[in-house]
Amino acid sequence: AAVGVPRESRPGERRVALVPGVVERLRRVGLDVVVEPGAGQAALIPDAAFEKAGARLGDPWSADVVVKVAPPSAEEVDRLRSGAALIGFLEPRTEPDVVRRLRRAGVAGFALESIPRISRAQSMDALSSQANVAGYRAVLLAATECTRFFPMLTTAAGTVKPASALVLGVGVAGLQALATAKRLGARTTGYDVRPEVADQVRSVGAQWLDLGLEAVGEGGYARELTAEEQAEQSRLLADAVTGFDVVITTALVPGRPAPRLVPADAVRGMRPGSVVVDLAGATGGNCELSEPGSTVVVHDVTVAAPLNLPASMPEHASELYARNVQALLELLVVDGRIAPDFSDEVLAACCVTREE
Ligand code: NAD
Repeated sequence: AAVGVPRESRPGERRVALVPGVVERLRRVGLDVVVEPGAGQAALIPDAAFEKAGARLGDPWSADVVVKVAPPSAEEVDRLRSGAALIGFLEPRTEPDVVRRLRRAGVAGFALESIPRISRAQSMDALSSQANVAGYRAVLLAATECTRFFPMLTTAAGTVKPASALVLGVGVAGLQALATAKRLGARTTGYDVRPEVADQVRSVGAQWLDLGLEAVGEGGYARELTAEEQAEQSRLLADAVTGFDVVITTALVPGRPAPRLVPADAVRGMRPGSVVVDLAGATGGNCELSEPGSTVVVHDVTVAAPLNLPASMPEHASELYARNVQALLELLVVDGRIAPDFSDEVLAACCVTREE
């Protein structure tokens, strides 16, 4: 079977779904790889590197399986042939139009967002690999915007106190943010509504902020809070947030708008020069003052809500993503042909459209 790798078309998307090292491995399991010229350009991977790894340059859209990062546009779906498969982020819960179009086009869609969070599927878990990039990058952004040092410094010119960083929502991105902030020397604290996270927070040297609210949902995710719980949380967090130099928010509930954790008043209460980095911008943001895709300064506090931070580190983000795609392809392909076994719980869960 042939695997097609298009050049990503979404503005700002610098990642590519396969990298040369992974192309080599796929060749070894009997797959042909067709790469659109320039597909790796934004990730600084030249066409020649793909060719050297055994890929052919050409039209990726007629392949048996097309692998992408961002969801396909309507035009891109039109270019897929009926009976083909598509692997990528397909936003099945937030953009049902994508799935609808794929179904109409007779394309089997495999959504990386819907890979179950079980040990066997960890190698395919692109939400996790990309969340690691986002969590790391969020801290660097915060450190750049903050008017104060992260580490404690003892110098001839005096001693500087370490910054304090609070991470709200400690899934994969939040845990990486805590670890990264710690490495830079900040004092770190983590908060989540899933109590099982407390030990993970402590394991990266952070304090656990306990507000006495629990909201455990299904599949390892949080559930949405009730209106009363939300009001209570917002009130308690407004108090807690003001003591920190840096607040990084990553809280998500699958398929729902991002929970509002940081009210405008809380930002007003922060020390001038402090920073909020909100990673939940794509679903509306965790901070009331966030403007998704922009950085605003309110009462001398910087509120950044970058969209798609993984694309700002395209080399490693693509490398990790490509490994995830490879693992899923290996599950889909039997003897060099696409033959998904839907009794496999991983494939059954991530397949969002298929021929009846
Ligand atoms: P996510 O991106 O869906 O959400 C980020 C965090 O926000 C979560 O920890 C969630 O509990 C928290 N959150 C949601 N609403 C909140 C609120 N109102 N207040 C505070 N926090 C709130 O989460 P994720 O990073 O995708 O991880 C979800 C879980 O899956 C984690 O427990 C993670 O360890 C687990 N996981 C398991 C595997 C595996 O076993 N294969 C792989 C990856 C992740």
